[in-house]
Amino acid sequence: MEQRSSDRYRVAVIGAGPSGLYAAAALLASGEPIDVDVIDRLPAPYGLVRYGVAPDHVKMKSVIRVLRKPFEPAHVEFLGGVPIGEGGFPLDALREHVHAVVHATGSSVDRALGVPGEDLAGSLGSGAFVSWYCGHPDHVDLDPPLDHPGVAVVGAGNVALDVARVLARTADEMAETDVPGPVLDALRSSAVRDVHVLVRRGPQHVRFTPAELRQIGDLAHADVLVHDDGLLAAGVDAPEDRRQRQNLDMLTEWTANAATRAPRRVHLRFLRTPVEVLGTGTGGRVSGIVVERNAIDADGRVRGTGETEVLDVGLVVRAIGYAAEPIPGLPFDAATGTVPNAAGRVVRDGTPVPGAYVTGWIKRGPTGVIGTNKGDAQETVQAVLEDLPGLPAPARPEPAALRAALAEHGVRPVDWTAWLRLDAEEVRRGGLRGAERVKVARMAEMLESALGSPVGGAPTPG
Ligand code: NAP
Repeated sequence: MEQRSSDRYRVAVIGAGPSGLYAAAALLASGEPIDVDVIDRLPAPYGLVRYGVAPDHVKMKSVIRVLRKPFEPAHVEFLGGVPIGEGGFPLDALREHVHAVVHATGSSVDRALGVPGEDLAGSLGSGAFVSWYCGHPDHVDLDPPLDHPGVAVVGAGNVALDVARVLARTADEMAETDVPGPVLDALRSSAVRDVHVLVRRGPQHVRFTPAELRQIGDLAHADVLVHDDGLLAAGVDAPEDRRQRQNLDMLTEWTANAATRAPRRVHLRFLRTPVEVLGTGTGGRVSGIVVERNAIDADGRVRGTGETEVLDVGLVVRAIGYAAEPIPGLPFDAATGTVPNAAGRVVRDGTPVPGAYVTGWIKRGPTGVIGTNKGDAQETVQAVLEDLPGLPAPARPEPAALRAALAEHGVRPVDWTAWLRLDAEEVRRGGLRGAERVKVARMAEMLESALGSPVGGAPTPG
């Protein structure tokens, strides 16, 4: 670690996902005398790449080689297992150590459908479901009901496709991925056979990217069946957008598909809006979903017909988008689920909040692919660089002071070396299963692998 001195700037990036790590890299690349701490509440870095990118999207995860660059060699400090804010280390206390804070904590709240029955057991947001199969410590005990042949996945974005694909793959296919052992066991005993993807609009309106849609067609052990009320056969105007045209061509081709002897089926059901989740039994768990049939009128608007049908499902996953969690002390726009900002500067009532910045999904909403965060982070870092000379110096800028304050607060951070121990343990577990890695998902086990101590968060000895 190079020598740090108090005449340098210090910036904390909260969130070690792609947006935070692109911001750290941009701060480093500026050549300015800036020390950067990347803080994450989890003991592992990479955020959505680790906990959102589908396990079978192995190539997509190779972006990690780029994202880890600021830590190797160690130009940037990683402080993992350090929750900031409510219940953790106070944001105000962090501000005593840094000139600026870049918030890069993403959008972790599942949006709701707002229909009756949505809170039944077995009705889940995609955030929770995806986090479960990706081995996120918050969701290890989710135990999604996979004991029924039917599942509904609501939404026409890439997350809906990820969820459908994972459910339609065989356990042997998933064994080659990094899913934790208990997730693989659950998938191995899964009774799921029919995955119904419910799309409220038409095939010309889906938000899938063609490469992701193609993967549904390429599933080795599942048929893809299109249910579009004859819309495509009747002819749909070619959309202007190239990707939408590619989607439409693929979907049109698939209308000719018939069920084979494949063990599973992915049903793409267009013009269907969920209106109620049905429940049964004393525990009140999902037993079906009522959908309203829609039609496209002469003006191209999608309208409900009032006609409903019931699908026999035991699990509903809504993949209809996310919102950010509000950050105490910062303004929040509940309508967009983001922190109001101007090019990354947090703005309250039209005025920038000194030293507070956002990047990634918390800044622009849950859109774009991983690479989108690079340009986004560069814009925010540009604002940070412009402001740094005018920001007040922090009271306690030395790196040792932040460490000491965390220790006083009972927090023992997982630094980069400690993370590499956890990383090595995951690679070791992967070797036992013939996979590149197998995730360690329980917080206590993560900390034990990283720090040699199962104690959470992690209090310092004595
Ligand atoms: P998204 O792309 O915004 O899709 C959300 C979907 O939910 C839309 O189809 C929307 O339909 C539907 N929806 C919203 N409210 C609904 C409601 N009340 N009832 C029924 N349907 C509703 O969001 P996402 O799938 O969560 O993805 C988030 C971002 O991550 C996207 O940019 C995505 O491309 C990206 N991502 C990329 C990958 C990849 O590259 N492999 C993987 C995962 C995610 P309407 O269109 O009718 O509004």
